[in-house]
Amino acid sequence: MMDRDVAPMRGLQGDELEIEKNKKYEIIVFPNQDEGLKAQRILIAKCEDFKHISTLAVVVPKERNQEVCRVVINENVLISGHYPFLYRDYEEDFFKAAREYKPSGEEDDYLKSITLCYVAPCMADEKKIRLIAYFDRDMSELLPYLNSVIKGASYNKNASTLTYAKERRLINLYSIKITVAKADDIIDAWKVLDGVKELINRTYKNTDTIKPNYEEKVKVTALQIYGWLPKSNCKVCGEATCLAFAVKLLQGEQKLSKCAPLSTELRFAENKKIMQEMAEALGVA
Ligand code: SF4
Repeated sequence: MMDRDVAPMRGLQGDELEIEKNKKYEIIVFPNQDEGLKAQRILIAKCEDFKHISTLAVVVPKERNQEVCRVVINENVLISGHYPFLYRDYEEDFFKAAREYKPSGEEDDYLKSITLCYVAPCMADEKKIRLIAYFDRDMSELLPYLNSVIKGASYNKNASTLTYAKERRLINLYSIKITVAKADDIIDAWKVLDGVKELINRTYKNTDTIKPNYEEKVKVTALQIYGWLPKSNCKVCGEATCLAFAVKLLQGEQKLSKCAPLSTELRFAENKKIMQEMAEALGVA
């Protein structure tokens, strides 16, 4: 049985990093518990200051981030990624939720694990994160069943993808991977991944009673979005062109509100209305 929590060990040494409001920190995320535990043991042995979030992530001072990553990578530990730790009012809740978080799972689950392989800040909103994680098996055959049970999902048979929005998060399921944009933080990301795993396993158990839906919804393309934008390439949104903005919007990496002309100029009011409805449906409003 795996040792799931190194926090007490760290706590007994009395040297766990104290988070201070006026300092900058980074969160380093590991793909699974084995890598996370290995990394934390190395950091303890090397007397590196870090705050344990869970077996899957640690907080380190921003100025030590590169060096800490190098230390664990040199010992052959895998890292999913790192991103700024934002001191939030709910900091204590954040750590409490992380420590209490236990991924669900049964021995006979169809999908046993989802491994977090990439995590970084969202381009549209640096306070949110985006991630890529991999399934431990191919989900292609299950996607039409998930298309039946997930309300508002958009299925693409040729590409073997299913896209849907969960509140403000944009979720893309592929045959062997999942991408999530606009997760609140790493705890939110774990919860989303765990929710997807639970949904996949529940759907698999009920395939006898679910009618697979191979229907593809009318897809919105970047060129269609471009058609509704002001097309002035003014760069106010931070993108070089309106087309680049359209592509990023479709990928959940831009926000509609960042296009100031569309939001403020009366002549674009009708386009704005259409775009808002479309963005809400795609979860990128
Ligand atoms: S702010 Fe709007 S009009 Fe200007 S480049 Fe971006 S998308 Fe185009």
